[in-house]
This record gives sequence, structure tokens and C-alpha cells, in this order.
Amino acid sequence: MNKSEPKRYLVTSALPYANGPLHVGHIAGAYLPADIYVRYLRLMGKDVKYICGSDEHGAAITIRAKQEGISPKEVIDKYHEINKTSFEKIGMSFDIYHRTSEAIHHETASDFFTNLYNKGMFIEKVSEQYYDEGFNQFLADRYIKGTCPKCEHENAYGDQCENCGSSLSPTELINPVSTLSGNTPVLRTTKHWYLRMDEHQAEIKQWLEDVQATEKWKKHVLGQCRSWFQEGLLPRAMTRDLDWGIPVPLPDAEGKVLYVWMDAPIGYISATKALTDDWELYWKDEESKLVHFIGKDNIVFHCINFPMILKMHGDYILPTNVPANQFMNLEGDKMSTSRNHVVSVDGFLAEFEGMEDVLRYALTTNMPENKDSDFSWNDLQARNNSELLAILGNFVNRVLVLTHKYFEGVLPEIPSDDLETVHEKAEEVFAAMQAMPYELDAAIHRYEFRNGLAEVINLARAGNKFLTDTEPWKLIKQSEGQTAAILSICLNIIARLSVYMEPFLPFTAPKVKGFLNLSAEDEKAILAGSFNIAAGHKINKPSLLFSRIEDTQVAAQQQKLADAKAAREVAAANANETTGEAVIAPLKDTIQYDDFIKLDIRTATITAAEKMKKADKLLKLTVEVGFETRTVVSGIAEHFSPEEVVGQQVLLLANLAPRKLRGVESQGMILMAEENGKLVFVKPDNKMGDGMVIS
Ligand SMILES: [Zn+2]
Repeated sequence: MNKSEPKRYLVTSALPYANGPLHVGHIAGAYLPADIYVRYLRLMGKDVKYICGSDEHGAAITIRAKQEGISPKEVIDKYHEINKTSFEKIGMSFDIYHRTSEAIHHETASDFFTNLYNKGMFIEKVSEQYYDEGFNQFLADRYIKGTCPKCEHENAYGDQCENCGSSLSPTELINPVSTLSGNTPVLRTTKHWYLRMDEHQAEIKQWLEDVQATEKWKKHVLGQCRSWFQEGLLPRAMTRDLDWGIPVPLPDAEGKVLYVWMDAPIGYISATKALTDDWELYWKDEESKLVHFIGKDNIVFHCINFPMILKMHGDYILPTNVPANQFMNLEGDKMSTSRNHVVSVDGFLAEFEGMEDVLRYALTTNMPENKDSDFSWNDLQARNNSELLAILGNFVNRVLVLTHKYFEGVLPEIPSDDLETVHEKAEEVFAAMQAMPYELDAAIHRYEFRNGLAEVINLARAGNKFLTDTEPWKLIKQSEGQTAAILSICLNIIARLSVYMEPFLPFTAPKVKGFLNLSAEDEKAILAGSFNIAAGHKINKPSLLFSRIEDTQVAAQQQKLADAKAAREVAAANANETTGEAVIAPLKDTIQYDDFIKLDIRTATITAAEKMKKADKLLKLTVEVGFETRTVVSGIAEHFSPEEVVGQQVLLLANLAPRKLRGVESQGMILMAEENGKLVFVKPDNKMGDGMVIS
């Protein structure tokens, strides 16, 4: 154990904007690592508080409100609930999920500003800022987009380029455009309060170097910070012209609110206040350890801005570490909700019911701890089928089934010479059992969650190997005692797994504990390393922990991404199309006649149609093919209502392999022609019988 062991931990995850659904990239970035860390600390009996909540201010909210045609308040109420529920579903164990719209937060952030203002930490500056003449308002940074001056990314925001991570000011953007009107904004004068970041650079730089003596920070985090220092910090406006947010608590500041980065991180403090009367212990006692989990786009705000604000205030501790993760891509491309290239938490769980831990496992093994990573459906399938199922699930199941088969779920007293004989063969597995908790502990405290999880799985792997090597199913014929000794070692491994897997697989751990009938006392003994399953301990019958993910399920998900990509390309083609002429798609590769005659295309008639639940694009069609009736799921719901298509004769690709879409098996594909995104049915000139062959 570390000799400077903190008395208590305060752990935060970045407050997500309450303006859109959470996807798996978010989870892998700032939430899952924190949740694993916190669950592990709790397991070790540490005093820890885990803080998160919705960031409900800033232009991101007002932009979303304009897009959806509702008020900002309606936006935050809606997305706060949606996100809170998604987090719960995937097992995020926040001690509080707060909101920055709460009065206690407004008060706290306001006090912070006043405190710093009274200490002379701001300078007032009148400057020229972009103004949208059509909308009659100054444009907050997020209302302006343009080309990044550093990396030439075309969609950089006024305060930051999400491509290269640079912090920007709107006037640096090349070709600025107002996102409200799409017009070029004009410059007008306005007054704001700027934090003297320049004056305080030296102390914050020194703090950052000093904190390295306590524990090493990730290279990419330090690298970003050092390059900021090298460029030199400038005074930065902590107020904005906006009608949504925390009003600037000064007499001459009408129509101005706190900048979201002078607001959101203080949300960690106000949430702690809302959680416990002892909040000051966590925020002001030097023996508390503060750790911020974030994505790489928030590094500058959590490693420079917020610590500086805390230091200027003077009463607060600063973070001990900010183990920011990089980004997780999806099938080789940047994850994006607006581009519909995304796997949302809710979407995943709707289609893979009960697979919360499968998702957590796949995201952890692939966590972008030090570089960007890639989520792929094939990887998820492999992680599930060949690790969770084949190693962990299989080991647990085999051992429990054998214990029931040979001993009716209760291990007998084992003769000592049998015990000795088996223990001689078990050196390797004993070593693995002993080492795992230490390796896991070290990994967790280095924020290496991938390695931590690997330690746990490796113990299951060692157990599986031991079982296979010792073959108790053969040995039972010669020695009941030795068989019992083998199973007892395996059960001891499973007992340890059930406790140490909990931070990673919180939905599975209680099931395994239940199989083993472990008491709270047993769990304590496991953590103390002294647990040994006793003769007479009753083991319950197991159920399967994991189920196979089939190729068809993976193909359906990949298809969904491909469909979304195709839809984007159509939309892009349409956007570029100003003459109204059809966009001609390039010719596909040549096929042979033999390829063509494999297609069985038939005339068919749609006899019934209904919308699919939770699938905006899909219609479920009943199709008469003459010799039989088929169900076809078709992605035409955005083009046709169910009423419009009933009675329509169509051409059906009748020998396409059936495919499950949203739980419904689609038995064929209806042929459509497409012109500039508009769909038209392909059908015989005159109505004819159904089931006729097209050739
Ligand atoms: Zn850039």
C-alpha cells in the first residue's frame, strides 16, 4: 500500500451536456473507467464519493432548443432524465447525479465568481465580438463555426476545435459562420470579465509539475498541458452574452451569464454539497484525493482552468490526477450522433437485452486509455463468445455442474493425502490466485483498467486450464477425494472472481456470488485472502451467465451502419444538387450471367403494413408471393405511410437469406428505384399474378 494513502476519495466524471443521448464512446471515455475505479475503492472499504450530473447551461443547450423547437428548460428536463436513465441501465454507480440548473449550483457558481472578482482575478475588457444581425444577438462561441486556424478542420467551434483539441477564440476562425442563421456574423463591441490566466500561469505550472511527485499522469494529458504553457496562457473571458445560464453577479452585467467552464466544473462542488453535509471534507481537506475522469477534449479545462480557479479561491484542494481518455471510434470512423454513426447505450440494450456486462466488458478491453481505439461489432462478438462465454462463463458453469453431479452441491470432507496429491498439481493456479489481487490493485491505481480486467480474466483462464488438465470427470472413477479437492480449488477461484469482477461486471458478480451462496463474512474473508470453501458449504445450481452472439446479429448491426452511411451519401448528394437533375451513381463492378441468374425475383403484392416500434425508418410488410405469404422488413417508412403501400404490387428478391431486423425476421427484399433520395416502387406495367419470375 501507498504510504501517502488518502483518507477519502472524491471522484468525478465529466458532466455531460443535457442535449443528446449518450453513446458508447462517451461511456468508454469518462464514465466506465471512473465507475470501475470507484467500485474498486468501495470494495476495498475506502471512503469515496462519486459525483456526476447534467451540464445544463451553455450554448449547446440553446442550440438544441432551437433545433427541436422547444425551450431550453424543456431540453434539459428531457435529456437529464434520458441520460440519467441510460447511466443507471449500464450500471454507473454515481453517489449523486445532479443538475447545474439547481439553485444550490447557481448559488455556488455565483459565489465563486464573486470571490474571485473581489480578489481582483478578473480584468474588464471591451472587445469586438461576433453578432448575428438577423437574430439580433451576440454569438456565443458555440454559435460560431469555421475553419480551425491550427489544423484546417472545417467545423471548428468558436471556443474549440474538436479535431485537434485546440482552444480557440471565435475571431481566430477562418470563414466564420453563424450557426443560427448560416450568415457571416459582424463584429460589435461588448464588455466581458477575463480571468488573469496569464498572471497565474507560473503557479499552476508549478503545481502540475509538483503533483507528478505524487503520481504520474498520462503522457498525452501532460503533453497537452505543457504545450499550453509553452504557448503562454492569455486572459480568458469567463462571461458570455447569452440569455440562458447563471447571471453574472455584478450590477452592470445585464444579459450576461457565466461562461460554461466557469460554471460546469463548479457543478462537482455543488453536487457534493447536495449529497452530503460533509462536503467540505472532500473538497478542502488535504488528505482527500480528487480525481477527474474526462475525455481528451476537456483536458485544458480540467488541468488548467479549473485548478486555477480552485487555487485562486484558495480554500480548495486541487486534483491529484486527471486520467483523461482519448476517443473511441466506431468501425474505423468517428462516432457521431448527428451523422447517425453511433451505438447508443439505449439502442444497444434494446437489441442485446441483459447484455450490460458484455458491453462493459467490450468497452473496457478496448478502452482508449492512451490512444484512440475502435469499437467494432466483430470485436464485441469475439469478446463475448471467446472470452466471457468460453472462459469465464464456461469455467463457472463446468465447476458448478460437476459439483452438483458428483456431490449434490455440497463438498465432502477431503482426506488429507488426496488434498496433498492435488495441491502438488495446483502450484500454478495457486500462484495466479495469490497474485491477482495485487496485480489488480496496482493496475487500478495506475488507471490501467484494461490491464486490471485482464488480471481478473486471466485467473478464470488459469482455473479453466487447471480443470482441463486435471480432468475431474475422469478422476471421479478413481478418487472421490481428489475430485473434491480439484473442485474445491476451482470453487475458491470462482469465489475470488465473484468478488474481484464486481467493479468490471457488476451485473454478473451478484449472480456468481448467489451460485456460491457467499455470505458477507465470506466476502470479507475473500478480500482478506483467507477464504477457503468449507466442507458442507451448499452450492446452488448455476444458470448460464452469458449467451452466444450470432453472426446474423453482428451482420444486422453492421448493415445498420452501412444503411446510415448510404443515407448520408444520398443526403450529401442532394445537398450538392442545385439543378434538380438526378444524381447518377457510378456503375458497380461487372458480374457474370451466372451471378445474375442466382437472383430469384418475383412479382408480389403487399397485403398489410405497419410501422415498427422504435424504428423510424422501418415498415413491417406482409407480402403475398402467390405460393406463400412472407414478412418483409423494409426501410421505407420515411417515404411511405403503411396505408400508401397496401395493395401495391412490387418486385421481391425472394431468395435473399432471411435476416432479423429489430427482432423481426425479414424474408426477402422489395426492389426500389431511387432518384435524389426519393423512392419509387419497381413493378410490372400492368398488374399481374403474384409469384411470377422476373428474368
Ligand atoms: Zn483544429
